Amino acid sequence: MKKILVANRGEIALRIMKTVKKMGIKTVAIYSTADRESPHVTYADEAVCVGEPLSSESYLLGDNIIKIAKELHVDAIHPGYGFLSENAEFVEKVEANNIIFIGPTSDAIKTMGSKIAAKEAVKHYNIPMVPGTKDAITDVKEATLIAKKIGFPILIKASAGGGGKGMRIVKNEHEFESQMSRAISEATHAFGDGSVFIEKYIASPRHIEIQIMADSFGHTVHLFERECSIQRRHQKVIEEAPSSILTPALREKMGEAAIKVAKACKYVGAGTVEFLLDENNTFYFLEMNTRLQVEHPVTEYITGLDLVELQIKIARGESLNLIQGDLEIKGHAFELRVYAEDPLNNFFPSIGKLNVYKIPEGENIRVDNGVNEGADVSIYYDPLLAKLITYGPTREAAILTMVKAIDAYKVEGIFTTLRFGKFVFQNAAFREGNFDTNFVNIYYEPNILQKQAEKEARLAALIALKQYQIDLKQVRLPNS
Ligand code: ADP
Repeated sequence: MKKILVANRGEIALRIMKTVKKMGIKTVAIYSTADRESPHVTYADEAVCVGEPLSSESYLLGDNIIKIAKELHVDAIHPGYGFLSENAEFVEKVEANNIIFIGPTSDAIKTMGSKIAAKEAVKHYNIPMVPGTKDAITDVKEATLIAKKIGFPILIKASAGGGGKGMRIVKNEHEFESQMSRAISEATHAFGDGSVFIEKYIASPRHIEIQIMADSFGHTVHLFERECSIQRRHQKVIEEAPSSILTPALREKMGEAAIKVAKACKYVGAGTVEFLLDENNTFYFLEMNTRLQVEHPVTEYITGLDLVELQIKIARGESLNLIQGDLEIKGHAFELRVYAEDPLNNFFPSIGKLNVYKIPEGENIRVDNGVNEGADVSIYYDPLLAKLITYGPTREAAILTMVKAIDAYKVEGIFTTLRFGKFVFQNAAFREGNFDTNFVNIYYEPNILQKQAEKEARLAALIALKQYQIDLKQVRLPNS
């Protein structure tokens, strides 16, 4: 493999290219006209404009991307996450053009891309699943009876859903029919597939996922768990590894279940098997993500492995020389997703110019960054600017480093989730590991941040005043 095209943008494109370069392989970036000056473009050995700002006119144009890859004699395409990473049709076309796709087969993507097909695929493997319907719902009356049997509240989910979208909580029987028709029309509109199914709504779950890695010779290991329970709109904002509540025995059980899920679809490469864990420590299979996950750096910190390097080695046909029994967790890592969103206004996307943008540096701090000072943050793409990752020998040490790193992270011009992150890392329940996916609803209120900001502004003003008085005295000294 001499040249890899990264079919993505932002922090993930840059992060992948860093490993590609480290391995002595040339990099090709693609970009839209809105991203001309982005760091991933300047970092790459070669860069080609693929179209207009809208993703559908650039980063999603699979045929154009393959054409560029062929023209530049690219050996492999790394899709990152999002965009074309879980598009089975694209994968087939890449392979038909004799280019290696750094990821699983199109069959595995097809199976796991549909939540219903995924459940069907794993049903013979004795994997615990959330009670619910196995097939897409076609008869609402029949579904009502099943929902009643499961017991309300229940969750209606879009089979093709992702990114926390396509889910509806139904509190009682009366709402069921109307919510169902809304869910179907929403799913058709958003994912081009109206298949929905129902699942028991687990009241206070923790989101625990297992990183797996499989080579093309049938050897599969798991790289332990990540806990991703701090979410807004069913979307992750803060992740950690390991989880503060998993016992070694439960970790082993969940790890084994994840490997079975991977084997069920003959998985090759890096994948993530997601579970919900209830208050009784019973876990349920949610879905499998067939790509590199946003939060993979926390796993890299605790295992000392480079997941992108492993992906590339597997894609070029090498066997995985990792043995489950030799793998060990060392220390603790956190990730805070730095989104261009306003935590005071319902995490609404925040757009504008990054007038000031300084990222923290230091021991045990890693920033996977995708933007530069002066850049325009637009509405065109996912609002993830960067990921702030910290490490420590203990959970407490990694939290302390995180709080310091947040304070040293300077952003002016737009709002970000940094301040929200600081609130979470200073919250007593979070620090005690006592939380679930309802954390934001239970503990977070925008006015807490507002008060915190006012307090910090007052303190800063006091310090400035004190300094002014000191300076004044020093200026007067020679004459007095
Ligand atoms: P997506 O593919 O959109 O990310 P997931 O199935 O992975 O959807 O679920 C995302 C989040 O939604 C979970 O982490 C959890 O917070 C919530 N969730 C999903 N299914 C359930 C359920 N049955 N009960 C309670 N919460 C759920």
